[in-house]
Amino acid sequence: VERTLSIIKPDATRRNLTGKINAMFEEAGLRIVAQKRTRLTKEQAETFYEVHKERAFYGELCAFMTSGPVVVQVLEGEGAIAKNREVMGATNPANADDGTVRKLYGESVEANSVHGSDAPETAAQEIAYFFAGTEIV
Ligand code: ATP
Ligand code: MG
Repeated sequence: VERTLSIIKPDATRRNLTGKINAMFEEAGLRIVAQKRTRLTKEQAETFYEVHKERAFYGELCAFMTSGPVVVQVLEGEGAIAKNREVMGATNPANADDGTVRKLYGESVEANSVHGSDAPETAAQEIAYFFAGTEIV
């Protein structure tokens, strides 16, 4: 089975939406096999989003991601990466399909409530960045 890294972002933890978002993952057949609530340091956010370093929004994105607690989690299931991205919806909530997390809860293209890995290589990398193998059960 496939695994993906998910992050419930500060805009969602601030509004106490962790349980509602987790229920959407579980209803889609994804299993939460690791999970922790933490506050990212500036260094962690900058490293995590390093691929976006040259984008105009990089500084603001890192500031937003450290503005409050996040819930970092590993989701497991058949085709977990694609399935999670389906449940999340489009990056910009304005373009997200009805019934997706970002349509329901996203506040803006930046404060869009959730992150999900976009490919097997990045998923493996992102999971290893936050979790030891023994923490994933
Ligand atoms: P994620 O990687 O968080 O799952 P994504 O793959 O849909 O989202 P990316 O293009 O990888 O989107 O962008 C990463 C994150 O950067 C987005 O989730 C969003 O929070 C932020 N972002 C993307 N585009 C913009 C933008 N134009 N302005 C501000 N923030 C943006
Ligand atoms: Mg992405």
